[in-house]
Amino acid sequence: MEAFSNLEFSELIKVYPSAIALMLLIIIVVKYLRKQPEAPKGLELLMGGFFSLIIAHTMPFARLFSYSDIITFFELVFVCLASVMFLTAGLMLKRVRAATEALAYVFFALTLFLAVYLIFILKAPHLTVLLYYLSLSLGYFFLGVGFASQSNKKQNYGFVLTSLVFFLLAVYNVLMITGWGRATIGSSDIVFAMYFIISITLLLCGDNLLNFKIQTLEDEVQANQSRLRLIIQSSPFPIIISRLRDDRLMLVNQKAQDFLNIDTSRLTNYRLGDFFADASFKTELMARLEKSSEIEDFEVVFKSQSGMDEAETWVQLSTHVIDFEYEIALYSAVQDITERKRKEQELFNEATRDSLTNAYTRRFFEELANKEIMRSIRYARPFCVLMIDADHFKNVNDTYGHAVGDKVLKELVITCGKILRKSDIVSRFGGEEFVVLLPEISLANAQIVADRLRVAISEAVVQGEKGEEVRFTVSIGLVPSSYSTDLHTLIKASDEALYVAKNSGRNRVISLTPQEDGDALAEAAALVAGDNPIPAVEGNNPAAPMASVATAPDDDEDIFA
Ligand code: GH3
Ligand code: MG
Ligand code: MG
Repeated sequence: MEAFSNLEFSELIKVYPSAIALMLLIIIVVKYLRKQPEAPKGLELLMGGFFSLIIAHTMPFARLFSYSDIITFFELVFVCLASVMFLTAGLMLKRVRAATEALAYVFFALTLFLAVYLIFILKAPHLTVLLYYLSLSLGYFFLGVGFASQSNKKQNYGFVLTSLVFFLLAVYNVLMITGWGRATIGSSDIVFAMYFIISITLLLCGDNLLNFKIQTLEDEVQANQSRLRLIIQSSPFPIIISRLRDDRLMLVNQKAQDFLNIDTSRLTNYRLGDFFADASFKTELMARLEKSSEIEDFEVVFKSQSGMDEAETWVQLSTHVIDFEYEIALYSAVQDITERKRKEQELFNEATRDSLTNAYTRRFFEELANKEIMRSIRYARPFCVLMIDADHFKNVNDTYGHAVGDKVLKELVITCGKILRKSDIVSRFGGEEFVVLLPEISLANAQIVADRLRVAISEAVVQGEKGEEVRFTVSIGLVPSSYSTDLHTLIKASDEALYVAKNSGRNRVISLTPQEDGDALAEAAALVAGDNPIPAVEGNNPAAPMASVATAPDDDEDIFA
């Protein structure tokens, strides 16, 4: 057949190996394309089609060695197979439902029959050439249509260029049907150049598909984010989303805006930590988040925002580490638990404080005092215990009535609050008797403080029921930690000192000092030093007889000077 046999051998040597190389390139590219996400259907057929074309293009080699008509037949058969695969691939790319591989093979059977008829029965070379080029141009045309239909994606230059090249190939093959076309543009170089261009444009398609996938994922993330925003906005609790790396707020819902008085136009000016009353809460939160990415019950005090009640605001945070808008963020749901905390505090106070004077109960005092004593021993810090008893209190009750007596007891504790330090532990031991533990104080200073308290109480005035001024005094027994480090021994000793104070005229401070050769605190501290466990404090009670009794400097305020 003249259309395929007019090539010189030297030309075949030059052209066909490069044709095969190009076809293989195209097959590799199509295979790569198939692996892309969102790859359109029909790419297998495209690959199969190119494979058939390789075989068809190799046929002219065989013509050098074998009977011409048989070779022409196979050449035609493989070209038709390629064309039919291209056609079906084009339809599949265009998403024509009926296009399947089965359809391709039916078409192929028909062309096979036609080829046999034309070559061996009709022996009409010009019709063979017609079938050859017509089928190829049809295949390319449909591929052009198929790729053009895939170009509706955002980045589509790959698909547009590929379809353009396929249309050009279709036109080229139509022109090749005519003798004029074969004479003027019938160069295999043009075809191979086109194949080369196709392999490049197909690579661009792969790039388009990847970008398309990324775009789709981004759209999905956007959709999820806006869904999350919606859920956060409609939450019945205040919700705060803050960036982990700089603590800046990223999103708050309306409830949080109202609760924390946030101006959303300057949202990123706020930091989550700014809302905490104390920086230690932030540190603790971060420490807990390091252990677990979910915290359910973190209780913190929030700073009072303008618009909030002045009293401290307790909140419970449920905080989770989440991905939010390409950042690692903290999702914190805020629950106002101020009321619950207030009730808890109330219950705690009821259990630990005397209802009349608000001083600690005896039981709670013992708990606090024992802790304080252990701490003092560990750090070898001196402390003192005072026992205070109102003088002739029975007379106050008898003279002014029980209610005024109550007022006096309240005033006594209020005066303790004014004179003593915050860390001093004041408790009501019963009736008109009070025990105080003074941490971090030497005997000499404790004597000064106790006397100052005695004077302040003697100057305090309470209004009687008829408006009369009621004055009262106290006697105080004082004992230092050098006497003993056992609380009960100290209380007993302070009671003995108080007894001495009462007997020596009342309205005075009497200190009990330890034996000269023994310092109970120093002994106890020496025992715990060097990482020994804290010893049982009972063991430090000196069984020795009572130490010397010393009176406090009477009304001697100058000692502080
Ligand atoms: P002294 O100087 O020796 O301590 O004499 P005193 O009268 O203070 O001592 P006493 O122990 O004889 O009396 C204590 C009185 O305190 C008896 C009791 O009626 C009164 N009292 C105890 N608890 C309360 C109270 O809660 N309210 C009032 N108003 N009086 C109380
Ligand atoms: Mg009394
Ligand atoms: Mg008493």
